[in-house]
Amino acid sequence: MSGHVVIFITVESLVEPTKNQAAVSCRGVTKTYGQGNAAVQALRGVDLEVRMGELLMLVGPSGCGKTTLISVLAGLLQRDGGDCSVLNHDYKQMLLNETTRFRGRNIGFVFQTFDLIPALTAAENVATPLLINGVKRRAALEQASVVLKKVGFDDRMIRSLPADLSGGQQQRVAFARAMVHDPRMIVCDEPTSALDSESGHMVMNLMRQFALGKDRVLVVVTHDDRIFEFADRIARMEDGRITRIENPPGRGNEPQKNP
Ligand code: ADP
Ligand code: MG
Repeated sequence: MSGHVVIFITVESLVEPTKNQAAVSCRGVTKTYGQGNAAVQALRGVDLEVRMGELLMLVGPSGCGKTTLISVLAGLLQRDGGDCSVLNHDYKQMLLNETTRFRGRNIGFVFQTFDLIPALTAAENVATPLLINGVKRRAALEQASVVLKKVGFDDRMIRSLPADLSGGQQQRVAFARAMVHDPRMIVCDEPTSALDSESGHMVMNLMRQFALGKDRVLVVVTHDDRIFEFADRIARMEDGRITRIENPPGRGNEPQKNP
């Protein structure tokens, strides 16, 4: 096993989308849960484009399909029909292990219930995406601490277990974990619901910086009109479809064509 030099030039590195290009492009995306009488049509033909460098908020009544849609975008759930490209990748064209690897590198997910691992400290929870990507434990924990300090954690909180943290603190850990590996896309499900106004703004400012920074994109599901001002655009969802795209308050409210 010597004398061979393997050079990887992945297609991925040749077609990375850059600022203002489409990060997400969905046409007629459908998803049904269950079968027969029990079938629930959660997505009924979603058309949506999200650009690189954009923070898009997704708003709509409970049950309209928001969580389903962002799970499809994050590659956690397979769509039934329609076309969907995320960072120039189509999950349907990828093998399971390719999807897992792609997600590990490129996607950060903040779940509604945080989904922190109870037996791990805040720093260890935040370090998991780095460990999955092969970063050594010590370096991963250091990097995790740096991000946790950005969301206002001190040394004692960094070493705390989730059970010893408040809801708002746990939510900030979930945020830090979504950002720590510098993914190209972050999707968040109702991220500020447990945060008071001040921590909510701190977290949203970090998210904005993230979206502005490089070729990054954020899709945030929210009911929280306090954070609408952080959006570049707001997509309204109803009954399994995107019905309108709006500008956030104060930036002109003329409805935009969903491009
Ligand atoms: P939202 O996040 O907007 O509240 P969801 O995407 O969670 O909406 O759900 C959309 C619809 O799909 C709802 O009617 C919900 O009850 C249904 N649903 C969601 N997840 C499942 C599931 N795992 N099995 C069956 N039905 C589901
Ligand atoms: Mg939901």
